Amino acid sequence: MYPWFKQTYSQLVGRIASSQLHHGLLFLADDGVGEQTLILALAKALVCENKNACNACKGCSLFEAQSHPDVQIVVSDKPSIGVDLIRKVSEFVTTTAQLMGNKVIIIHGIDAMTEAASNSLLKTLEEPSRNTFLILSTTQANGVLPTIKSRCEKIRLHLPSEKQSLEWLSSNTSETVTGEGLHAYSGSPIKYLQALTDKAANYHEFVDDIVQLQENKIFAESVAKKWKAEPALALKWAYQWSILEYKKCLEQDASLSKLNELQNIGDLCSKLKPKLEQAGINFQLILQRVFTQISDFRSV
Ligand SMILES: [Zn+2]
Repeated sequence: MYPWFKQTYSQLVGRIASSQLHHGLLFLADDGVGEQTLILALAKALVCENKNACNACKGCSLFEAQSHPDVQIVVSDKPSIGVDLIRKVSEFVTTTAQLMGNKVIIIHGIDAMTEAASNSLLKTLEEPSRNTFLILSTTQANGVLPTIKSRCEKIRLHLPSEKQSLEWLSSNTSETVTGEGLHAYSGSPIKYLQALTDKAANYHEFVDDIVQLQENKIFAESVAKKWKAEPALALKWAYQWSILEYKKCLEQDASLSKLNELQNIGDLCSKLKPKLEQAGINFQLILQRVFTQISDFRSV
């Protein structure tokens, strides 16, 4: 369990024990916070004979084996969640629990529900059935019908603070981690760690490339070629780099022309970003424009 969930988790589990948990829970999660871990732990606690995810009872072991008959996790093989899947949920709600305990339905990413699916789910939420819990989650709160929101208890899951993120990262990787690196992954320590362990190109490598570019050790063309598989990320990071460099320049009383140069790089990134959506666009050429400007820039 991630440390930033511990408090929420123990509160929720405490409410299972005192039978005070709402039958419809809606987790409104920040992207990259890792909400699925918390949701699965809560679901396990709900079907645990000891009501605390003891990992020793029949309920827990069936849950771990993903074969608990009273747990249903809705998974869509399409980008959207259709009404057919939600109808199955409604049928499941009306059945009697096979293990005489709670029944749990988990639906991740409910913003992907079609309108018909949302309306069908709404009916299920309006007619709660005893010992049945619906656990819903989304990272796109705006994509959820207000009527669904109003029938659920909403639990917000925010990204941990920079301090807590870096502490957690330090105990999970031997790689160097920084606040700047965390920011490059939109403040998600999980995404940051993933990038470091995947050995895929990560933010630190990006910054190294920029340094080499400015020292004329590599050319804009080859950096663009390297990053063209991740154009959106590269533009985002180039933008972030320009902002951080701008701050550095301000602190060092750099000339106005230096500041202008950096502002131009940031503006170029913003201007090029929507172009990535266009059909047939050459990502390498787009990135090359940015990297060329960066290579012309001399840090103070
Ligand atoms: Zn148990």
